[in-house]
Amino acid sequence: MARRRISAREARNIARTRMDRLMDLAIEEVREGRIDRSRRYVSLARKIGMRTNTPMTKDRIYCRKCMVALLPGWNCKVRLRSNRVVIHCLTCGAIQRAPYLREKKGESDE
Ligand SMILES: [Zn+2]
Repeated sequence: MARRRISAREARNIARTRMDRLMDLAIEEVREGRIDRSRRYVSLARKIGMRTNTPMTKDRIYCRKCMVALLPGWNCKVRLRSNRVVIHCLTCGAIQRAPYLREKKGESDE
């Protein structure tokens, strides 16, 4: 059976759909308290992302150390500190920092 070749863009669209679905499931598992399943879903989503060169949507956050999906108020703390968003994973204690200079600049332009 011949397999239809699809373009990289089509592949990325499919990948994005599946990654979003997996991340939704990962967050659901955090709510249910099943951390291991959440980690499994996140790693599957990451695998799809790597294979198709698709970055994860910005609003889907996960711990880069223990791979659990992060849901503010459930298993992570989000704080703003001197131009950085600090995300503290409450499952393993890892800390992620991301700058938010662009948003700050936009604010001062207004
Ligand atoms: Zn963690």
